[in-house]
Amino acid sequence: MRRAVFLDRDGTINREVDFVATPDRLELLPGARDAMHRLADAGFAIVVVTNQSGIARGLFGETELARIHEKLLHETGELLAAIVHCPHHPDQDGPYGRDCECRKPKGGLVQLGAQLISATLEGSYLVGDSARDVLAARGTPLRTVYVHSGKPPAREMQRLREADFAPTAEAMDLCAAADWILRDLRGEE
Ligand SMILES: [Mg+2]
Ligand SMILES: [Zn+2]
Repeated sequence: MRRAVFLDRDGTINREVDFVATPDRLELLPGARDAMHRLADAGFAIVVVTNQSGIARGLFGETELARIHEKLLHETGELLAAIVHCPHHPDQDGPYGRDCECRKPKGGLVQLGAQLISATLEGSYLVGDSARDVLAARGTPLRTVYVHSGKPPAREMQRLREADFAPTAEAMDLCAAADWILRDLRGEE
């Protein structure tokens, strides 16, 4: 089975903005594309796992999100093995307003992404800029890298302490996270 790196999207691959509601709001962070290619070259499947509650909030629809992800695929050089998203939010009304099993910090998205491409979580990694991302790895063998390139790190690290869960590593951004993962893979960490 393939090993994978599960990547959060906003604040990890692309710049953190309130909501990426249209393709022009998606702006890759410096070095992100290169980092993803280095991980893919090392044999990892790259899987994006992203909460997109903007759908439940009525800010954009599935069709628009598909357009945004077409741009993401194109700008990353078509190397993504899968992109899975959670459109739900527990506090919203309407068809997407429910307490689902896929919204991170729950683990459903990671499980779904792994199933889609027959990846194993053993020897796989997860990278994200929020406490929710890191917590989605709880109870799995995933190793986690918390990156400082998105949400305010002090607040997110506080949330992780409150949840009594620590990332395996911290890095400035996806580029540094890829460096750490590749060193870890060689047994240097
Ligand atoms: Mg994020
Ligand atoms: Zn969901």
